[in-house]
Amino acid sequence: MLKIDHIGIAVPSVEEAKKFVKDAFGLEMEEIEIVASQKVKVGRVRFENIILEFLEPTAPNSPISGFIEKRGGGLHHIAISVENVKGTLKSLKEKGVSLIDGEPRGGAAYKWIAFLSPKNPAKTLIELVETKGGIDEN
Ligand code: ZN
Repeated sequence: MLKIDHIGIAVPSVEEAKKFVKDAFGLEMEEIEIVASQKVKVGRVRFENIILEFLEPTAPNSPISGFIEKRGGGLHHIAISVENVKGTLKSLKEKGVSLIDGEPRGGAAYKWIAFLSPKNPAKTLIELVETKGGIDEN
């Protein structure tokens, strides 16, 4: 059975989100990481079975800048953990699923990631993640 790895939440300030989850729920955010290639700051909060990934743009042309401008932030994407991103993309292409990434790319905390177009019937941006230490780790 597939698992949801994490939920991505766009915020104007990861530091403010960190303070909020600590004050409200006593949850610690992991060390905030800057992902230069995606022009985002990332802070992760681990729950027993899922991670909340808070994303703050670091540049006006970051992939999440427009989302924050239009909606003020909020639920941005759902990430499904798969054993093999490349193979899953191939199978989705054959099924005619609309993709943002035709090929996997390297992700911050993951071996490979890829995004599907949000113009699917679920109307949600979906990320595929291949967790490190997966079956084809070399
Ligand atoms: Zn993500």
